[in-house]
Amino acid sequence: MEAFWNNIRKVTPYTPGEQPKTENVIKLNTNENPYPPSPKVTEALESIGRLRMYPDPAASELVGAIADYKGLKKEQVFVGVGSDDVLAMCFLTFFNGKLPILFPDITYSFYDVWAELFQVPYELQKLKKDFSIDPEDYKKKNGGIIFPNPNAPTGVDMGLSKIEEILQENPDVIVIVDEAYVDFGCESAVSLLEKYPNLLVVQTFSKSRSLAGLRIGYAMGSSALIKALNDVKYSFNSYTMNQPSIVLGKAAIADEAYFQDTRRKIMETREWFKGEMKKLDFHFPDSKANFIFASHERIPASQIFEAARRENIYVRYFNKPGIDNYLRITIGTHSEMESFLTFLRTFIGKTV
Ligand SMILES: *Cc1c(COP(=O)(O)O)cnc(C)c1O
Repeated sequence: MEAFWNNIRKVTPYTPGEQPKTENVIKLNTNENPYPPSPKVTEALESIGRLRMYPDPAASELVGAIADYKGLKKEQVFVGVGSDDVLAMCFLTFFNGKLPILFPDITYSFYDVWAELFQVPYELQKLKKDFSIDPEDYKKKNGGIIFPNPNAPTGVDMGLSKIEEILQENPDVIVIVDEAYVDFGCESAVSLLEKYPNLLVVQTFSKSRSLAGLRIGYAMGSSALIKALNDVKYSFNSYTMNQPSIVLGKAAIADEAYFQDTRRKIMETREWFKGEMKKLDFHFPDSKANFIFASHERIPASQIFEAARRENIYVRYFNKPGIDNYLRITIGTHSEMESFLTFLRTFIGKTV
């Protein structure tokens, strides 16, 4: 099926050399070294194998595992080197028009960077006072839409009915929902894919699957959108997914019990931590992510940030108008959060 939406970049992709799946071939077509790497490397990565050769450029084992897990076709899944790579490819592929793309003024700070890098015109949409996204702001002519759900760094989520409102108003551009934190308790827009072929949902292994070091992100959408993404990817770097990531990523997907257990633990710790923070006079929007975005009634966020740092506790502080009195605090283990609370109790006690 030919894509009919506006603003999609069309290219003829580079074709990588063949990587046969059978053994016993003399492979002299892609300049690989015939010798194995250092024995120490092979030892550590014994279960992974095949490091001498280029990986499968389509990462089909991993794509297949994700597709099966999500109940989608292989043609509906695109994988990349973290969702940052996936999102950068999305900007290149789908935000290729003259009208400005729309995203919230307080959001993932990479969006404006990519827009600048790829010279995509953009227009920031103000969050409401309670930090929620107003669908009304996304009902005007535009070159495409992107927002995280739940949003970062606020943790505030948007229900599927509001996402549908945005989709219904924008059938001729691509709408991207960045679900980096969706596994921590908010509803995924994957269920809307069948109804909206211009929707692209992006997720990552970095947060809920504890694999930020592996760099695996993926996009899910109609096969037309995934093909457009692959065409751009093959014109940029065919071998984005390395062999260990393909093998270990597939193994992570297979361990459903572990995934459910760890995400439940994070959510439980988060809810308990919210209560403790309220007792200490912090306020924050209700977060559905693995962090809370908190501000203290009396003490400036920058002071808490500096004091915590001196105690070797690192939280995130954004020195940006509108959010410069907030701290983004990641949910660690229960005992890590206990240590942070102990620090806060002492610090706040000294400051009042
Ligand atoms: C962390 C994050 C990403 C990128 O994660 P990767 O490690 O590149 O997969 C993308 N979007 C948002 C909103 C994030 O917070």
